Amino acid sequence: MNATHEEHATSATAASRCEPAAANPAGATVLPRILLLDDDPVMLAVQSHMLRAMGYAEVSTATRAEAALAMLHASPQAVDLIICDLNMPGMDGIEFLQLVNASAYSGSAVLLSGEGQHIMHTVRRLLAGGRLTILGALEKPATRSALNELLERWQPRGAQAPARRPPPITTADLHAASRESQWVLHYQPKVNLCSGAVVGVEALVRWNHPDHGLIYPDHFIAAAEECGAVDALTDWVLQEAMTQLGRWHVRGLPLRVAVNVSMENLRSPYFVHRICALALQTGTAPQDVTLEITESRLMSPSPTPLESLARLRMQRFGLSIDDFGTGHSSLAQLRDVPFTELKVDRGFVNGARHNQIIRPMLEGSIAIARGLGMLAVAEGVETSDDWQLLRELGCDLAQGYFIGRPMAADRVPDWLADWKGRSAGLIGS
Ligand code: C2E
Ligand code: MG
Ligand code: MG
Repeated sequence: MNATHEEHATSATAASRCEPAAANPAGATVLPRILLLDDDPVMLAVQSHMLRAMGYAEVSTATRAEAALAMLHASPQAVDLIICDLNMPGMDGIEFLQLVNASAYSGSAVLLSGEGQHIMHTVRRLLAGGRLTILGALEKPATRSALNELLERWQPRGAQAPARRPPPITTADLHAASRESQWVLHYQPKVNLCSGAVVGVEALVRWNHPDHGLIYPDHFIAAAEECGAVDALTDWVLQEAMTQLGRWHVRGLPLRVAVNVSMENLRSPYFVHRICALALQTGTAPQDVTLEITESRLMSPSPTPLESLARLRMQRFGLSIDDFGTGHSSLAQLRDVPFTELKVDRGFVNGARHNQIIRPMLEGSIAIARGLGMLAVAEGVETSDDWQLLRELGCDLAQGYFIGRPMAADRVPDWLADWKGRSAGLIGS
């Protein structure tokens, strides 16, 4: 297995995140037909004039959500993009967009509001997963350049690669995967934001399915936990990651490795013994291994996970609270578990510089880590803006596509050589 699949999959992800569209007024052939919805007729006139001046010739308007809905119901294919004011008397933009999201219309939308970023963030969350593609949200009055930036993201229907539906997963498949060694590990680098030094890699499992190709962990970890296959999976991941670490050390690469551990693993009274035995067998120092833990049920009545975590820490394994800020990665967990690392979820990292909502949360998470004497790690670092902000905020470590995508073990030495050159420029030395 090589990194080709990973690169392919991640570029598909980038496409689904609305890379600038091929079609734009400057050089394109296809332009969206726009429906502008705003209860203020003056604003409507100003905006439609602006859009026409930008080269968008087909702009229809409505001052009431009911009228706009009727237009869309009559011919859902006649509009490609809706620019919608959220604040309207009668049916407001939230209700309108939810109805559109559940209708036959499968185009795009831009949100407009004078209520500030937070409400627009909430509405975007509300609409996520529906048929509408939300290109973005703008504060009113929208400037020409801000509108242009969002409209450039527009793509015609069907231009995006359809998301591949994950195959149904059965218990028998999962047990067969363990028996027949269908697991593959890819490794994603973690680097020091101050010095640029590579401190280690996170091991991320993929399932090389004989019929469906490479399947990503979000599609099978929960099923493996439910059917009891996750112990064998984690056992394989730990053994493989520690063995690989030994190979790198022999080559003079002083890396550490992080492994994701499921809460189901920590429930097993044998887990601590098993991981210690694997470390001994592979000649791995526990200090070189960090266990990343995300879970909703850490604080369940059963004391076993807490006991396992305390004992693992006493053995000097690193413990990371993964995806901090989401789900149940909470302050209560930080209080009760001797974590050594706080890994801020990527939802609070990417784009934080210009986002008034997530930036204070990122700053707060880094301050908590510092206050507790833990390493602060940011995941999902996708741009040089993200990278620079984290340096300014004093975050310790970073991980993300900007630094390096997950890759097969044999690609790591080349990546390290490449990063050496790149990082010198990034840390400004
Ligand atoms: P995680 O531990 O939070 O791992 C990071 C995930 O973010 C990885 O997805 C990685 O490919 C992705 N990622 C990394 N950098 C970026 C970035 O800059 N932008 C974006 N948008 N994404 C980025 P992946 O490999 O699909 O793993 C998903 C989750 O599955 C992991 O989240 C982890 O919770 C779980 N997982 C992975 N391997 C294992 C494993 O061996 N055992 C268990 N129990 N869970 C695992
Ligand atoms: Mg992780
Ligand atoms: Mg994470």
